[in-house]
Amino acid sequence: MGITFLNSPMGSVFQAFEELYPDKDCLFEFVPQIEGGGYGVTIFPDDGSTTVIFVDINLSYLDMLDIITHELAHLVVGVVGGDGHGEEWGKVYGFILDKYEEIEKKRVFG
Ligand SMILES: [Zn+2]
Repeated sequence: MGITFLNSPMGSVFQAFEELYPDKDCLFEFVPQIEGGGYGVTIFPDDGSTTVIFVDINLSYLDMLDIITHELAHLVVGVVGGDGHGEEWGKVYGFILDKYEEIEKKRVFG
């Protein structure tokens, strides 16, 4: 039978993103530290190659879920508006969270 996950919050974050934005591609890597500081970063290469997301592996699980959601929102809208977290970014961040909650509720309540 192996291991049956009764839940997988991190899996649900990525599932939520892929359901909302199936055409968005990136490479994703957990790293021991983020170059230049911070907890995560989304790199959009100048040469147009695949976007890369790095997330600090040392975070608590819940913080990691938040940073992953944060960076996935950048994957959709880029780094735009003020400090890079403008209205559009906030909307996408909220969409991902809402979809995540929908997936988790469905898992619990059917
Ligand atoms: Zn950001």
